Amino acid sequence: MPIIDCHIHLSDIQSFHHTARDLSGVDYSVAGLKAEFERSGVILGIGMGVEEETPAAFPDTLAGNPMGLDLARPMPSFLMECVGINPVRLAADTGKEDLDRIEQRLQSKEVAGIKLYAGYYHYFVTDPVYGPVYELAKKYDVPVVIHTGDTYSMNGLLKYSHPLTVDELAYQQRGVRFMICHLGDPWVMDAAEVVAKNPNVYADLSGLVVGDQHKFDRFQNEPLFMDHFRRALVYADNYEKMLFGTDWPLAPIDVYIEFVRRLIPEKHHDDVFYRNALRVFPRVKERLESL
Ligand SMILES: [Zn+2]
Repeated sequence: MPIIDCHIHLSDIQSFHHTARDLSGVDYSVAGLKAEFERSGVILGIGMGVEEETPAAFPDTLAGNPMGLDLARPMPSFLMECVGINPVRLAADTGKEDLDRIEQRLQSKEVAGIKLYAGYYHYFVTDPVYGPVYELAKKYDVPVVIHTGDTYSMNGLLKYSHPLTVDELAYQQRGVRFMICHLGDPWVMDAAEVVAKNPNVYADLSGLVVGDQHKFDRFQNEPLFMDHFRRALVYADNYEKMLFGTDWPLAPIDVYIEFVRRLIPEKHHDDVFYRNALRVFPRVKERLESL
C-alpha cells in the first residue's frame, strides 16, 4: 500500500533541530527524510511551510509571507508544500504585497495548500485578516490546513488553537476545504464533532506522540492513551475524513506508521494512509500523475 504523509516539516526552525537531535533521533534533512520515506513506502510528503528570522523566534512575527520549506530548496520530487501564513505581516501596511507573493507562490505546482498557525499567532481563524487568504484558497482550489490543539511553544495561546474555533469558520466558508491538524489534541472529541458536523472539514492524525520508539512503546501500551483517540475516531465514524501525517521530525516515520495502524481499523487503512489525501489535496493527485 502506498502512503502519503500529509504533515511533515523541513524548515530551519531551532526547536525542530533540537527535537530531532534530543527526542526523536531522526536525521532532519532532505536526505534523512528521503531515506525514511523509502524504507516505509511513503511516496509523497506534504511539508508545512514555516520560517524564523532569528533562531528560536518561532512563532516569528517577523517572518515574511509566504513561509516555506527553507531546508528543501529546490523542492525534491517526493515533496510538496503548504505555504505558511504570518498574519502579523498580513495585517501590516505592506500586507497587500505579502498577499501578492502568496498568490504568486500558489501558482506553483509544488504547492498543495495553505497553512495557518492558529495559537502560535494570536488571531482567531475567523479574524478578517485571513479573509483574503480564504478567497485565494477558493480561487486556486487548495485546502487550508489549520494547526489545532496544544502548541509546540509556550508562546502560543490555546484559545486560538481550540478546534471548536474552526466550526464557525467552516460555516462561513463552505466553499473552502479545511484540514485541522493533530485532531485538535487534547480536544479530540471537540475536533471529532467539528469534522462530523461540517462537510468541508477533515483532520490529520499527526503529532499525537513526539519522540522515539521507546516513547511510543510507553504510550501505545497505555490503554487510556490509545482510547482517548479511539473514542473520538469512533464518534466521528468517518474514516474518509481522517488523514495520515507524522509531524516529522517530531517522530520517526516507521514508528508513527505503526502507531496509526493500531489506531485505525484495518479496513480503513487505504483511505487514511493514501486515498483521503487525494480528496483533500487535488494537486497531490496531479503531482503523482506527473512523476
Ligand atoms: Zn506540524
